[in-house]
Amino acid sequence: MALLEIKNLHVALEDGTEIVKGVDLAVDTNEKHAIMGPNGSGKSTLAYALMGHPSYVISEGEILLDGEDVVDLEADERAQRGLFLAFQYPHAIPGVTVTSFLRSAINAKRKAANGGEDDPVPVKEFRADLLAAMGHLKVPRELASRYLNDGFSGGEKKRVEILQMAMLKPRIAVLDETDSGLDIDALKVVASGVNELVGPDMGALVITHYQRILNYITPDHVHVFVDGRIVASGGAELAQRLEAEGYEAFIPAGVGGE
Ligand code: ADP
Ligand code: MG
Ligand code: MG
Repeated sequence: MALLEIKNLHVALEDGTEIVKGVDLAVDTNEKHAIMGPNGSGKSTLAYALMGHPSYVISEGEILLDGEDVVDLEADERAQRGLFLAFQYPHAIPGVTVTSFLRSAINAKRKAANGGEDDPVPVKEFRADLLAAMGHLKVPRELASRYLNDGFSGGEKKRVEILQMAMLKPRIAVLDETDSGLDIDALKVVASGVNELVGPDMGALVITHYQRILNYITPDHVHVFVDGRIVASGGAELAQRLEAEGYEAFIPAGVGGE
């Protein structure tokens, strides 16, 4: 059994509109999966539903982590079990440095693991982990002492996200690459972070509408996502076909297009 198994997942908005219409997907450690689909096809809805965002209603299906259905668990409980969503942090947080942001993220995880009791990471241990992760991911030292997202470029924001991922050591990382504002530098940061971190302890699901990112990440599995469904799955070569033929070639007869 794969670490993450999504079975017949249907996700609706609070008004009942169904956006994700029956997704089956298995992601294991050591695997890089890419979900690619046009704007508005429901990719982000899938990502939010995986993380337990309260605005997205799972109307049918299962999300199994290590065989345990997590559909009824809160976002923090899912994170506790090793699921990580690279959230967008669009706002600068005045007075919060990258270092203190990362420390709070780790302490929140430790607290949950400790039955809700505070269990702050020892300062020395945190510093050692942070320096190791920054070295590993080639993050410039000076970034750690800057205020979170204060004047950050797209690439710098992504560096912090990937750094957070490295520090939290999730087992399955879900990266939802938004459709705007990602420059090539940011794409490279995400790609090299995923390439570095995916291994025996972690698998990744990269959601994107950019074919370009796949020039830097070679996914083991590519899934074409149209109108709330995976309509084709294959290896890296599927991304090439997508590039050549566009999404139209994958839209099944009878399904309304964009
Ligand atoms: P993608 O990430 O593939 O571009 P989304 O999941 O963001 O697609 O959106 C799929 C559809 O669901 C779109 O029509 C979008 O407007 C709608 N949608 C998603 N989230 C919400 C929301 N919170 N409120 C209203 N509509 C939403
Ligand atoms: Mg179905
Ligand atoms: Mg999206």
